[in-house]
Amino acid sequence: MKLVFLGPPGAGKGTQAAVVSKEYRIPHLSTGDMLRSEVAAGSQLGASIADDMQSGKLIADETISSVVAHRIALPDAAAGFLLDGYPRTVRQADFLESLLGSVKLDLVIELVVDPTILIERIQRRAAMTLAGGGAARADDNIDSLRKRLSIYQTETAPLTEYYQRKGQLFRLNGDAPLEFVSRGIVGRLAHLRGQ
Ligand code: AMP
Repeated sequence: MKLVFLGPPGAGKGTQAAVVSKEYRIPHLSTGDMLRSEVAAGSQLGASIADDMQSGKLIADETISSVVAHRIALPDAAAGFLLDGYPRTVRQADFLESLLGSVKLDLVIELVVDPTILIERIQRRAAMTLAGGGAARADDNIDSLRKRLSIYQTETAPLTEYYQRKGQLFRLNGDAPLEFVSRGIVGRLAHLRGQ
């Protein structure tokens, strides 16, 4: 099963992706997590992207696409994977398609959420992390968040139509309770697999 999760920051992609990854035993590939590990490890790649990530900008299509190409070539992704945070631009979607060749994505799941709810959610996530003694994400501040939402609208939102045209899109309301959203996704995937 090869899946993509689409949705603005704070839409709940990570949470839902974790549920689906467990249910179908496919690796959850979050490009944001991969890049944050590079920054934390102080690698050359990490150093080159840290500023853009912190300010909420996208990193270059070529850079992220090469990270994804390496990751999905690893053996644990051979039977399937779930991409969370990639593609984020039409160029990345075209690259993914060329990478997969004759293999088609099984489904692109888009979580649709009202932007005002997103701002509240992300601020809550940062406050909870801090209260639990953790460090909030460098980009969980209001300026970066506004930037990430506006980039989502201009760069990533066109992917809705892109995947709709290919008949691969499944949109659902990400404002609904977590379990309700999970049930919707798992039900659709079971239907796809003829279960
Ligand atoms: P996320 O955890 O998915 O919100 O990603 C955090 C940050 O990582 C983004 O704001 C970008 O700076 C960078 N990033 C993650 N995925 C991509 C991508 N597909 N294209 C460009 N930048 C990305």
